[in-house]
Formats: sequence, structure tokens, C-alpha cells
Amino acid sequence: MQNTQPSTQVMAADAAEPGRWMHQLASRLFPIHRSMSGEGNRETLRVLNEYVPVKIHEVPTGTPVFDWTVPREWSIRDAYVADDQGRRIIDYRQSNLQIVNGSNPLRARMTWAELKPRIHTLPEHPDWIPYRTDFFTDGWGFCMSQRAFDHADGQVGDRQLEVVIDASYADGSLTYGEVFLPGKTDRELLLYAHLCHPSLANDNLSGIVIATRLARELASAERYYSVRIVFAPATLGAITWLAINEANLSRIDHGLILTLLGDRAPLSYKRSRRAHAVVDRAAEYLHEAGTIGSLHEFSPLGYDERQFCSPGIDLPMGRLMRSEHGQFDQYHSSGDDLDFITPRALEESLDACRSLIHILENNRTYQNRKPKGEPQLGEYGIYRAFGKADDRGQLQEAILWLLNLTDGTNDLLSISRRSGLPFDLLDRAAKLLLSHDLIVHSEESYDDCHIL
Ligand code: ZN
Repeated sequence: MQNTQPSTQVMAADAAEPGRWMHQLASRLFPIHRSMSGEGNRETLRVLNEYVPVKIHEVPTGTPVFDWTVPREWSIRDAYVADDQGRRIIDYRQSNLQIVNGSNPLRARMTWAELKPRIHTLPEHPDWIPYRTDFFTDGWGFCMSQRAFDHADGQVGDRQLEVVIDASYADGSLTYGEVFLPGKTDRELLLYAHLCHPSLANDNLSGIVIATRLARELASAERYYSVRIVFAPATLGAITWLAINEANLSRIDHGLILTLLGDRAPLSYKRSRRAHAVVDRAAEYLHEAGTIGSLHEFSPLGYDERQFCSPGIDLPMGRLMRSEHGQFDQYHSSGDDLDFITPRALEESLDACRSLIHILENNRTYQNRKPKGEPQLGEYGIYRAFGKADDRGQLQEAILWLLNLTDGTNDLLSISRRSGLPFDLLDRAAKLLLSHDLIVHSEESYDDCHIL
């Protein structure tokens, strides 16, 4: 069932059609049984490593990570319920969602009536199989569609069934992957996508393929920031990564959690705990520009912002997504399949990430070197450099705003907000002033205190 042959289609679509490229990569990863730990996670990272240099890290069972301990590794080979003819009524080989993720091993004979309380279905969506997990009890269970359940219910009677979960818990490790792309400085931009769900597309293959695509694009671009991309299981993976990398967290200037980015709902951004970090203000700018549909305040619920924005960590890390988790019918069910995500939505999400990163890369703070009165711009040849006549007026306006507000405490986002001028226009004007030595980069940090 785990067909992950190299896909020539993925490679062929690389340059021209990012949406299709990402969808094809998601299709390739879809059958792999990812979980909190285990071989499926390693296999996923090995596939990603064919496209971007992923370093695979293994954190051994028993390693303390803040208030937690890395658990034993769960492995599964097969799981089924078969009738007395050997026919499989429930079959892990048909869908890895059919086993409750984390189920304990079992070999037993029991009747359908005895088995039924262990079976999860979605009566309101009778053709979908639910996705369920149970890692922290000694439990086990199966999932199936309501339709298949009803069929079995009418057929099986009181015959003995063979119930097999060929799984194990053993000392092993928690696996995560990292892509590191050095920039001009060691200041870092962190992108994070959770990797722990089996055959589900939006949650979170969408985040994984967008992060992978971004890594490919950013690898060939000249950047101020070093970019670190982390693929790890939700919750415990994020906690593990943070615990292991705690000494280096101060390098991270901006972060973004990428999840649920392939469905058709509009884009939404959830602010970091800091609320007005640069990444939050960049997202606010894109919201006002119409790129991001909605902005949400921080809350300690949801995805791995619960860890990255916990009070003792408090990274400037927002979350980009489309549909809210738990708020769409297909959530955590086989309805979240490859048809639920679209190349178009993936590409639009990718575009929003590119725009956000573009702003973070160029959002500098400058200092005016001639702050007493306006400088005599004609003397510097600035007007000749204005270029096309049609935007001269706007560029001149941008220059005047910049010369006034570049006092070392306002970054370009702040100046854009106060002037109402587009970020890219201000960036262009700033680079012009910089080239004429009228402003210099400010040494001061441009963190979240400069709100106008
Ligand atoms: Zn989930």
C-alpha cells in the first residue's frame, strides 16, 4: 500500500506549475502511514530529501523534553478483522485509517457484538472513515465507514471473528527533519509543518508540500535571513524540537506554522502570542492588501503555536491556514483526501507565503543621515533616478515619508501603515536613498515595539 516510487511527473512540473507540482508530491506522500513516530515518518522525510536537503534527526525513547519524555516508538505491520472464511471485514491494507493510530497489539477471537464498541464511524458521513488516535492509554480500536459497518452488522451474526493488530511499542526514537538554508546572516526565519498524520491531505500534507516547495525556491535566492524548515510530529514533535534547540531559539526573528493550506476556504492568519511581532504586522499588511482573507487573535488552542508561543518560549510565530481545524466536515476523516486539496489553493497559499517572506526579508529599519530640514534632493541626482514619469509623484511622496520617519525606530511596515503607501514602493524608495547615502541601515532592532 505504500507506493512511493519516484515520480517523474513531480520533477517535470517543477518549474512551471507549482500548484500541480505540490499536488503531485502530496499524492506521492499520501499512502505513507505517518504517526507520532515510526518508519512512515522516516520514509516521508526520505522522499522529501529527494527534493530538498532534509537532515533527519532521531531523538531516542526516554529523552526528557521539557515536561514530557520521548515515548516508545509505535510500529504497525498489519491489522484486520476477518470472518470465519478469512474474509477481511476491516483491513488496514485497504486504508491505514482503519486502525486507531497507536493501538496496542492484539490477537483475539470475539463476536461482532463484543467488537462493536471498539469501532469508530461517522454516521453523518456514512462513506468516510474517521481518523482516530490513542497513544497514551493501553487501548486499541478500529475505524470504518458507517456504510461498511451497517453491512457487516447485518451479515456477521454471532460468529467468532479473528481480530489482529500486528503492532508493537518498543524503544526507538521520535524522528524529525530539518532543512537549513544559510543566508547572509545567522538571523533565522523558521517555517514549521507538522508531520504525523497518515493518509490525510489537507491535514497536513498541504503544509508539508508548501514548505518543501518554498525550500526549493528559497535555496536559490539571495537572502538576508537563514531559513530553517522543520517537519515534526504535532505537539510532542514541536516540544521535542524546542527542547533540543532551546539554546538557539534566540536566533529566530520570525516564524510561521504552515497547516491546512490546500482546501478551498480563504486564507487566514493567526497572530503570535506577541500579537504585534513583525510577522504579525506583515500578515496584517497582506490582509489589508487582500492576500490574506482573515486575521485571528492568538489563543492557546489549535496547532503547534501552543508550543512555539508557550510563555517560556514565546517565539514571534504566526500560523497560516485556510479552513479552521475541526470546522470542516472532512477534518480527520478519509474525506480529507487528494480531491479535497486543489493545485490552485496550494499555489495561492504558496504565493501568500512568498509575499510574507518577501516582506520579512526587506522590512528594514533605516536612519536618516540628514535629519535637520529636508535634504536638497536635487543635488543628489535623486529626481533623475525616479524613472518613469507616471510613478514619480508617488515615489517622491515615499521619499518624503521615508526621510521623515527613518529615525531608527520605524521599520518599513510601520512607515507603510502611517503613510498609507505600498510596502514595495517604500522599499524601492529606501533602496534609492540608501544608494545615495541619505539613509543608512539602523543598528537597532526593529522588533514589535514600533507600532504607530
Ligand atoms: Zn490533525
